[in-house]
Amino acid sequence: MNDRTTPTVTVTIQVPSNAPEDVISRVTALGTELGAQGGIDQVLLDLVRTCHVCGCTDERACFGGCWWANDEGAADLCSSCADGPRQ
Ligand SMILES: [Zn+2]
Ligand SMILES: [Zn+2]
Repeated sequence: MNDRTTPTVTVTIQVPSNAPEDVISRVTALGTELGAQGGIDQVLLDLVRTCHVCGCTDERACFGGCWWANDEGAADLCSSCADGPRQ
């Protein structure tokens, strides 16, 4: 048997969610451009939730662990920054 299926090429671009909007739109345009070229079947834009205060992500949480404390639609904020020491 000669199975000539070509592997699917998927490119994932990770963008921190706290990146400025113009950066996100530039990366989106880049992804569309990449997808229009041969050899790439799929371009995924992966918006990584990133705390806008300390920069932690799901993969790299704060020391001791944290969770997302922001309201939907608001800038990502983790629990350790949300209940940080109040001045
Ligand atoms: Zn944080
Ligand atoms: Zn955190």
